[in-house]
Amino acid sequence: MIKAENLVKRYGSNYALNDVSFEIGEGEIVGLLGPNGAGKSTAMNILTGYLSATSGSVSINGVDILEHPIDAKKNIGFLPEQPPVYPEMTVIEYLNFVYELKGCDLDREAHINEILSVAKLVDVKKRLIKNLSKGYRQRVGIAQALVGDPKIIIFDEPTVGLDPKQILEVRNLIRTLGRRHTVILSTHILAEVQAVCERVIIINKGNIIADAKTSELTKTIEGGYRYEIKICAQPKDVIPVISALGSVKKIESTGAKDADAFIYIVESTPGVDMRKQLFSACSSNQWPIIGLSAVGTDLETIFINLVDRSEEVTGGKKNKTRRAH
Ligand code: ADP
Repeated sequence: MIKAENLVKRYGSNYALNDVSFEIGEGEIVGLLGPNGAGKSTAMNILTGYLSATSGSVSINGVDILEHPIDAKKNIGFLPEQPPVYPEMTVIEYLNFVYELKGCDLDREAHINEILSVAKLVDVKKRLIKNLSKGYRQRVGIAQALVGDPKIIIFDEPTVGLDPKQILEVRNLIRTLGRRHTVILSTHILAEVQAVCERVIIINKGNIIADAKTSELTKTIEGGYRYEIKICAQPKDVIPVISALGSVKKIESTGAKDADAFIYIVESTPGVDMRKQLFSACSSNQWPIIGLSAVGTDLETIFINLVDRSEEVTGGKKNKTRRAH
């Protein structure tokens, strides 16, 4: 449905995007995740035809966005980071204006009413946009992206500046839209990707450093599992015994204690569940276990790992694309 091939965007000697390629299929909800300055907005602006790439191409359903912009853009609804709303218009006036602008041919009243309902704007439809809260203005921005019922909806940092309640509402709205549309959103917030997206493309310094299912990213990157375990026994006794277990790759003491238990971090050999062996070893030595919890498998840790790795590989020079399939 969306195909980006070898996208490069250069500002002077600075590469905002450096040979980025990906494909997104129908019905996917994909998060473009990266720190500020990673190149997310640049990628989104190129995908939507707002910006031309220095080189590379984007096609939407096989239609090149630069060669046939009108046909390609018909399939796209875009919410830029700054929603393009007119403060002096009421919500309904504005949606009618966007309807005209897009040359929409759907039943006007039914279509706009449906959008008002989906975006939960019915109660404020006659209010001036300038008098709405930031959360409502964001929903108006989302509503304009829905005009014309595009197959693909692209959101650039859709929850920036919203309060926690508004963030949840916007995320729920995006999830709902994901049932009927292909959705791409950019964010620098890991929890947002975990909450909303099935797939994540991680971008750093203009390069894709991972592209995986959100749920599988952990396995893909780490190849094993890490646990924090609290054992009522000294590191000098525990470490030799546990590190000799076949399923354990590494154990170290954190130096911290919880009551009379010492806290350790244990890492399994890739693809192995070491918990039963850990339990048996501690049990046969009569070392009580008072806690076991998974650590280091959240996206935050993975992200830091990936960014560190990509920087090691590139050494801050012209970057190479790394994929973690
Ligand atoms: P993100 O959306 O991930 O925060 P951007 O795509 O906005 O990142 O920016 C990527 C890089 O390109 C940054 O280093 C930014 O400073 C640079 N950049 C973006 N737009 C311009 C511009 N118009 N002129 C010069 N540099 C730019």
